[in-house]
Amino acid sequence: MSIPTHPYKLASRAFHRENTVIEVGNFTIGSDDIIMMAGPCSVESRQQILATAHAVKSAGAVILRGGAFKPRTSPYSFQGLEEEGLKLLMEAKEVTGLPVITEVLGIEQLEMVSAYADILQIGARNMQNFSLLNAVGHLRKPVMLKRGMGNTIEELLMSSEYILQHGNSQVMLCERGIRSFERATRNTFDINAIPLLKNLTHLPIIADPSHGVGNALYVAAVARGAVAAGADGLIIEVHSDPGNALSDGEQSLSPSMFTKLMGEIDRISQAMNRGLPSSATLTTRGLLNI
Ligand code: PEP
Ligand code: MN
Repeated sequence: MSIPTHPYKLASRAFHRENTVIEVGNFTIGSDDIIMMAGPCSVESRQQILATAHAVKSAGAVILRGGAFKPRTSPYSFQGLEEEGLKLLMEAKEVTGLPVITEVLGIEQLEMVSAYADILQIGARNMQNFSLLNAVGHLRKPVMLKRGMGNTIEELLMSSEYILQHGNSQVMLCERGIRSFERATRNTFDINAIPLLKNLTHLPIIADPSHGVGNALYVAAVARGAVAAGADGLIIEVHSDPGNALSDGEQSLSPSMFTKLMGEIDRISQAMNRGLPSSATLTTRGLLNI
């Protein structure tokens, strides 16, 4: 496969041919394993995060997601529990053993959020917040950088350069859907981005079908497609009671929908000569009870 030259350097396959593999807890992101991250859009209460964390763990997810600082379109919408939410995520991590991914919204919270997070999430709206990107570049901690809803693949790669240039090599990229003329879905999941990014960069690629389609009815189909297209992992919104979620309930899977999806991802990843991490496979196939 020929490797063209591009304005991004450190992220390119020309600079680093082998896949970057990021270790988080006992798991590796960017290896042959398909990494499933799941949990609510927002941490809402102790009961909600613990119930959801137990549900996603027993379905075979290996990383817990949950926002404590939320980037909401309206300042009147729920903004997250902030540090209290981070503490609840820690409690959920302790009882389930799942490492945590959570969003850092601004540079002023970076020290606090990075004290709790195993993976820092930089949201779509912050993809070009260059001072935040520079700051996470000085950390030595995994970062998941989400594609902006109006940004090109090249711009996503250029943003990753801001982090990489300061020596933080633990960067993964996330396709989460872009704005198009189509209003029947919240966003248009750009499946093209997955094989393209896998060719252009050595960084792991995560797919977010929840924000990509915005409707729980279609999340599983897009998730299956993303793994078939070569994604290294998925991040999925799951809520113990989606109808009463404080954010993104319409796109959140119930625990039973997520359990069904895990079985499908198990099979699709095998077809791609990959697989869920072995502990997750046992859980997903009902061979291990937790
Ligand atoms: C989220 O993950 O809940 C989120 C706000 O995602 P995005 O930044 O992709 O909109
Ligand atoms: Mn969300």
